[in-house]
Amino acid sequence: KSSDGTQGSVCGYEPSMHDSIIGNTELEKSLALAIDNNELQLFYQPKIDLASGRIMGVEALIRWIKPDGTIIKPDVFVPIAESSHLIGRISEFVLNEGCRQNKLWQKMGFPPIVMSINFASSDFYQNDLKEKVFEALARSGLDPQWLEVELTETLALSDIDFAVDQMNKLRDLGVKLAMDDFGTGYSSLSYLQILPITLLKLDRSFITDIEHDNIAYEIVSAVIRIAKSKKIETIAEGIENNVQESILRMAGCDYAQGFLYGKPMPPEKIQEFFDIDDKHDYSGRNSKR
Ligand code: C2E
Ligand code: MG
Ligand code: MG
Ligand code: MG
Repeated sequence: KSSDGTQGSVCGYEPSMHDSIIGNTELEKSLALAIDNNELQLFYQPKIDLASGRIMGVEALIRWIKPDGTIIKPDVFVPIAESSHLIGRISEFVLNEGCRQNKLWQKMGFPPIVMSINFASSDFYQNDLKEKVFEALARSGLDPQWLEVELTETLALSDIDFAVDQMNKLRDLGVKLAMDDFGTGYSSLSYLQILPITLLKLDRSFITDIEHDNIAYEIVSAVIRIAKSKKIETIAEGIENNVQESILRMAGCDYAQGFLYGKPMPPEKIQEFFDIDDKHDYSGRNSKR
């Protein structure tokens, strides 16, 4: 299967690499067709305000849904798209669809929330990035404050000045900027000085260990303190249980995202998170969901 052959073939010049390349080409072709046939869809994962226990945003996570209903996760096809011209088309779809859906929820009368979308590193090296984002906002009628772009930590390594410039242009539009998977790359803390980010997403690997590993806890609370001192908000990724949630709340983390609250889901399901009275609290007590 081509999708299996593509995993873990990032480096090295082994004989198997030839097969991987052929596999990628096939996957690339079917991915291009899938884009044409609207087989790419956005799922949304709720983001919870730890102070109020209410939904404050969603992250758009792309899925490839085959005609037979098979769902393919982004880990399989986003890297392929990134190594070809396809990522630009995917990012444009995600940007426009994310804005459209968020504005739709507002038109339906739900309280406004932040829509986070994931961009690939290469997106930040497109000269017309600001124009693309501006157009998507204008077309949908979404106010920029309800759009957030997530960037991965390794992105800025190749040309940091250009990337910062691009980010500042998005910030000038009024769009929010989040650094994804914080703590997994290099020079994490120094990036906080340089990049004009508004939110820092603590990687799931720290959260997994936080209950049992005192070092993980110390790292996370130090990062939250540093972020706060720079007026950068923090969100913990991959919260799966109540203990993790209360530790993060104690450490001063602003928001949380993880299977405890909900897995990525189709837009109709997100509406259930809005349809709650003020007293309802998602914090670890929503076993019904
Ligand atoms: P990410 O941006 O860090 O997204 C978070 C991933 O963690 C998602 O996987 C989500 O389903 C998963 N996750 C969330 N909470 C939990 C939890 O409590 N436990 C566990 N075990 N996992 C959790 P997903 O949807 O498979 O996406 C994987 C990655 O693919 C994303 O990581 C992102 O880097 C990339 N990706 C997803 N959608 C897009 C997109 O539209 N464009 C681009 N360029 N990349 C995307
Ligand atoms: Mg993300
Ligand atoms: Mg992440
Ligand atoms: Mg990631």
